Amino acid sequence: MKTANKTTAAVSLVREALDKAEKFGEYNIFTSLNAEAALKRAAELDARIAAGEEVGRLAGVPYALKDNFQSHDGNTTASAKMLENYLAPVTATAVKRVEDEGAICIGRTNLDAFAHGASTENSYFGVTLNSRDKTRVAGGSSGGSAVAAALDIVPFALGSDTGGSIRQPASFNGVYGMKPTFGAVSRYGVVAMASSTDTIGCLARTAGDTALVMSIMAGKDEKDHTTLDDFMGEPVATGKSGSKAADKLKIGVIKDFMGEGVEPEVVKATESYVKKLEQAGHTVQEVSMPILKYALAVYYIVTQAEIASNLSRHDGVRYGYRAKGAKSLGEIYNKSRDGGFMPENKRRIMTGNFVLSSGFFDAYYLKAQKVRTLIIGAYNEVFRDYDLLVCPVAPTPAFKIGENDGDVLKAYMGDILTVPPSLAGLPAIAVPAGETSTGLSVGAQLIGPRRSDRRLMQLAMEMEGVK
Ligand code: GLN
Repeated sequence: MKTANKTTAAVSLVREALDKAEKFGEYNIFTSLNAEAALKRAAELDARIAAGEEVGRLAGVPYALKDNFQSHDGNTTASAKMLENYLAPVTATAVKRVEDEGAICIGRTNLDAFAHGASTENSYFGVTLNSRDKTRVAGGSSGGSAVAAALDIVPFALGSDTGGSIRQPASFNGVYGMKPTFGAVSRYGVVAMASSTDTIGCLARTAGDTALVMSIMAGKDEKDHTTLDDFMGEPVATGKSGSKAADKLKIGVIKDFMGEGVEPEVVKATESYVKKLEQAGHTVQEVSMPILKYALAVYYIVTQAEIASNLSRHDGVRYGYRAKGAKSLGEIYNKSRDGGFMPENKRRIMTGNFVLSSGFFDAYYLKAQKVRTLIIGAYNEVFRDYDLLVCPVAPTPAFKIGENDGDVLKAYMGDILTVPPSLAGLPAIAVPAGETSTGLSVGAQLIGPRRSDRRLMQLAMEMEGVK
């Protein structure tokens, strides 16, 4: 990516990005732009460069921020009426880390409210359009971030991925999207969805840029006690594509996900990526993981429970939207939560409280956690024999806006390929793999054992240069 230096002004990089953001206004990518503060920061950075000061690895690079990361730039809305006017008192660690390296936030991007969804249709601010076809969804929940990168408004955008929210929109828009090992990047300051699978990552047009940003964000943070020591090490990338991976890998293709239920054009694109892996000298074999068919049900029990718990703080009292005219405390809760949440948020809160309720806890929540343990065990088993796994990112390319209206289960089914690694805390990266006959992008997904993030990114970089 282009960084600012003595000949390239940060101000012009930022202005160019802001101009493009305006130009692509109809895509509804941003919930708010940060023009004034961004230009001011760029001018300050240029002055530091002129003074010969050391500036960071992302000096003057404009970036887009999913609107569920707290920072002092604009309101952190999570694309929900509940937080429409919420000014964050803190800055997310991930934001701080990229900004300490000189990156400049040009705006906040649209998402499904509270990151519940896979299309950005659940946003209080309306849907974001797909970068390849304006009649289709951007994917989600990080839809705005994916389109901002795909349309070259910014070289990278930050996102969160609980069950696919970085990988699937990356795939729907032909960019890279990395979800790290659970705990690799601090979640501090990001609006919580499901605490046991929430991860922070990045979407970018090149594998090298993705790797660079990931390595900057990763590492221990005392504000998030689930964070791990930095095992991504020194930057794995210099921004150049086509770098050589050190070893030849043994890669398993998850055959359960290469047939029924997955559209033929998606399978074909994934197969072509697999072929390239073979041509590059890696060993590829089919593996079967039948247990993964239960992952979707497990995900939609475990995460709903965590969502219900995390969203209970939005009571209309402490902060966020408060309905007018309530006559009792109970009414404040009811009316504020009714008015502030989107229908999908409410559905999840209700299901979550149901699976946690005393009569049903054992039958749903406890059982789901047991199956989750089996899924983790199955991954551990295959990773004894394989370095990495590959499968598609989503069963379809970007679908039509409104196509899943009124069919919640169909919408949830679209997450079938991204939720399994999330339940096991595994790193996974979506890489562009091909196109459909109508020009929609299709991604493939590389999945590795915990802490193999660096290996995944290196392979993505190596394959990027292969035609
Ligand atoms: N689409 C998935 C869901 O709706 C994942 C969302 C996410 O990763 N935030 O739960």
